[in-house]
Amino acid sequence: MNYKTEQILQNKERLRIVYLFPQEVGPFKGHNAIYTYFLRISNYLNLKKEELSCEIDEIYIDLRLEELPLFSFQNLEPYLEGLTSMVNSVYDDFPFDLMAISCYSSYEYLNTLVVANLIKSQISSEVKIVVGGYHPSIFPEEFQSDKIPRFIYKYFPEKNTPFDFLIKGEGEITFFKLIRQLLNNELKEGTNSCKACAILEGETISSLNDLPLIDFNLLKRYKEKLKGKRLNIDFGRGCMFRCKICIPATGSVLPFHKNVRFRSIDKCIEELRIIRDTEWLEINSIFISDPVFFPKRSLRNMFYQKFRKFTESEGKYPYAIGVYDRVDICTQKDLLEYKEFNIMPNIGFESSSISMLKILNKIKTKNEEIFRRYIKKVEEFIILSNKIDSKIWWFLIIGLPGETREVIEDNRKFFLEKRFSGKSLSETNKIILDIRYYKAIPGCTIYDICEDQLGGKIYYKKWWRMPLENHRVYNKMVKPSKELDFIDSLRLNYEWAKTFVKHQVDNKTPFYDKDDIKILREGYFKFSHMYKNMNADYDSFIPESWKQGFIFP
Ligand code: SF4
Repeated sequence: MNYKTEQILQNKERLRIVYLFPQEVGPFKGHNAIYTYFLRISNYLNLKKEELSCEIDEIYIDLRLEELPLFSFQNLEPYLEGLTSMVNSVYDDFPFDLMAISCYSSYEYLNTLVVANLIKSQISSEVKIVVGGYHPSIFPEEFQSDKIPRFIYKYFPEKNTPFDFLIKGEGEITFFKLIRQLLNNELKEGTNSCKACAILEGETISSLNDLPLIDFNLLKRYKEKLKGKRLNIDFGRGCMFRCKICIPATGSVLPFHKNVRFRSIDKCIEELRIIRDTEWLEINSIFISDPVFFPKRSLRNMFYQKFRKFTESEGKYPYAIGVYDRVDICTQKDLLEYKEFNIMPNIGFESSSISMLKILNKIKTKNEEIFRRYIKKVEEFIILSNKIDSKIWWFLIIGLPGETREVIEDNRKFFLEKRFSGKSLSETNKIILDIRYYKAIPGCTIYDICEDQLGGKIYYKKWWRMPLENHRVYNKMVKPSKELDFIDSLRLNYEWAKTFVKHQVDNKTPFYDKDDIKILREGYFKFSHMYKNMNADYDSFIPESWKQGFIFP
């Protein structure tokens, strides 16, 4: 078997492309979200198809939505059997020439390797494989032969990389140019050798208005499975902030993130209209996945104005919409506008501790007063949202590198201290709080400084390269700081979190239910047991706990 990819695409009458979204190691199948990044790439390619020398046919495969056995290395044989049979039946109907895999995050790394190797060894060594996404953009070397984990080759005959091309950064322009070059046999010599995966620097699109209006047709294959899902769509790219917990904020590696761009408001509204009017697309809600929802005030106001006009003339928008917002940008007026349009802001509070907010570089200042105002503003917004009956989805991260007993105490006090006529903020308010345990995601600054600067310890430092049974559990095994062990952090956080959850169940806060206390308790014991033994049957528990996003682990 030879993975050498000759210039086989020239003189084709039709080029068949498969876009593939891989899956994670373990039972987790994604946060109920459908991403549309690959649609942008496909839509752009189709916009430019006049410049290509042949017709294009495309399909989309989302392995999270396929009926496949569990993907884990303890269970690989049945998985490979299921995957081979699924891909073979796709290939029989649609003998594809090229597969574009979106290795969106480090969670999908091993599955991306498995899928690519399987295509080259079982389907056809002539299929070209292109990979892109955050993980390949930050760690392109991990897709070359010498850096692919050796255990992968226990299952596949060939030792060379199965990847022909890797696109770093944004994909639309570079993918289109790659296809054109392949069809015209214009690739520079050496770009496409048999041993190495060619790394292509993604060209950043300067105006998002150059992207065509979104077309969802490729998703139609999963029409039935989309029911009840959340559709993610991007209207903007790039972020002006540099939070240390954020992968895209690794600005030196991902320069496109520094380039903040937005689609025109008219195009955004038009795409919302397309979602509403695509009859077969029955989703549950929409999430505008921009790093921050129109951080520029004038654009945000213009969105409200035009969306109001749209709903006044065409009726109430049928879907709830989620957006990311920030404590320092969001205003009281925004909360009222959000309520009017059934938009739910998701806000990363992250911590009630000034020292932790500083570690995270959540606000670009050293002025403690500004941090105090930030924390106070969260309290005021919680109270206001209760008064006006609007919902805010708050994120709080526990077990973070640099966490100390004081940090946990600050969180406890913020929610549970009895400072409102003998009652706490949590007793007197409905608070939708997504308490997440820190995950050691590579590519974020906090991961890089955890051990050397913050005195922590990541027990499974290269978890995404290891054949563990469940990546989402092992990557949380982190000792936060010199003074705090993983197990103490878990216990201290559990103690205040269970009281908090109890208050929210009593308050009948949306998204909480009485089983949450039980689930939290079970999670705490299983998590502690796992840490003590460094192995545990965690898998059976995980899907249940993830039913509710705001319960850790
Ligand atoms: S605001 Fe959000 S997207 Fe921007 S750097 Fe911070 S976490 Fe990342």
